[in-house]
Amino acid sequence: MRVPCLLVLCALAATVAGSDQHYRLAATQIAADTWLVRGSTAHFSMANGGNIANCAFIATGGGAVVIDTGPSARYGEALRTLVERTTGEPVVRVYNTHHHPDHFLGNQAFAGIPIYALPDTRRAMAEQAEDFSDNLYRLLGTWMKGTVPHLPTVDALPGESTVGGHRLELFAYRGHTAGDLVILDHATGTLFTGDLVFNHRAPTTPNADLAAWRSALQGLSGTPFARLVPGHGDVAEHGRAIAETADYLQWLAGRIDDAVSSGRSMAETLYLPIPRRFDAHDTLVEEYRRSVMHLFPGVEHAFFHAE
Ligand SMILES: [Zn+2]
Repeated sequence: MRVPCLLVLCALAATVAGSDQHYRLAATQIAADTWLVRGSTAHFSMANGGNIANCAFIATGGGAVVIDTGPSARYGEALRTLVERTTGEPVVRVYNTHHHPDHFLGNQAFAGIPIYALPDTRRAMAEQAEDFSDNLYRLLGTWMKGTVPHLPTVDALPGESTVGGHRLELFAYRGHTAGDLVILDHATGTLFTGDLVFNHRAPTTPNADLAAWRSALQGLSGTPFARLVPGHGDVAEHGRAIAETADYLQWLAGRIDDAVSSGRSMAETLYLPIPRRFDAHDTLVEEYRRSVMHLFPGVEHAFFHAE
């Protein structure tokens, strides 16, 4: 009786270990010439292969533009196939919105095509890409097979740039990371915000400057758009996702400031309750605790060393 069970277990293990590790990417059309490849709003896991961030692409008539490339070489290959099949156009340009690994480790599949990122993003990638990649190998194992960081090749600079029939306006912000690129496609009114905006998914803060992030969101809320593509979560039609991200960040900063100034320890702060108005955010408790661990020591240091 034990042998068949063992065989089943071996078969399951083989499936998990490699034979079925294919990203089943789907493109959803969200505007004329424009598609979203939506990632899961969960954490990195063996079940999702690290497919947790949104990518998007535009068929410009003068070639396809790709915004973010996913977490691994294999994802990048699947994305490129999907883009070219969906648009019937070759990829002529790639943008990386920021330096986090779920957004750019698929770049390898676009080698030879100009890959644009803000200068601050390129600097951060040069410093951290290897560590990010090592970390994803630890979390995702064979999903990462063959992945080597392939860094952007061109500086993205604020201002307008036309590709085919699409006039793209680039904005340089910071706050989620040292360089956060936002792209407004004037042809369709679609605003691609990268991780400055999370929609019903708790924001991540490992490289965040919360004050700069909040002022970036202020800038975005004054930008007219028809729809917004966040870094994580569904497309949003109005400013709600911007306001909700700003609300969470303001609350988080206040929570940590209050905890430090009232003498709470980091351990205590980790387990304080979170207001119910954030219940719609996926991964809320985990991200809150990660944020406390990232941010508390700096706030505490500033508090005790203030004049
Ligand atoms: Zn990010």
